[in-house]
Amino acid sequence: MQKLDVIYNPELDGWGNYDAQTQSVSVSTLRFPELQLTVLHEILHAIDDMLGIKLSEQDVRCLEQALTLLVRDNHSQALAWVQAFDPDQK
Ligand SMILES: [Zn+2]
Repeated sequence: MQKLDVIYNPELDGWGNYDAQTQSVSVSTLRFPELQLTVLHEILHAIDDMLGIKLSEQDVRCLEQALTLLVRDNHSQALAWVQAFDPDQK
């Protein structure tokens, strides 16, 4: 998976956008929880595009909600899982 830049653009129409050309996600808010949900939503669009899965907008919204609830309800395990990928943590 390629590096995906996240760019803050307060002028953006809507909360977020994934640009396949620049491999970047733009967000128009820095408030919680809109920022986190928007970044996750646009990352799912990026994964869909990169892997050619052809998810519908509804599919992306369902995955966004399911992953958010999974992390919220299993916070410690989710944090440990993410930290396991930290190259600086040995
Ligand atoms: Zn979307």
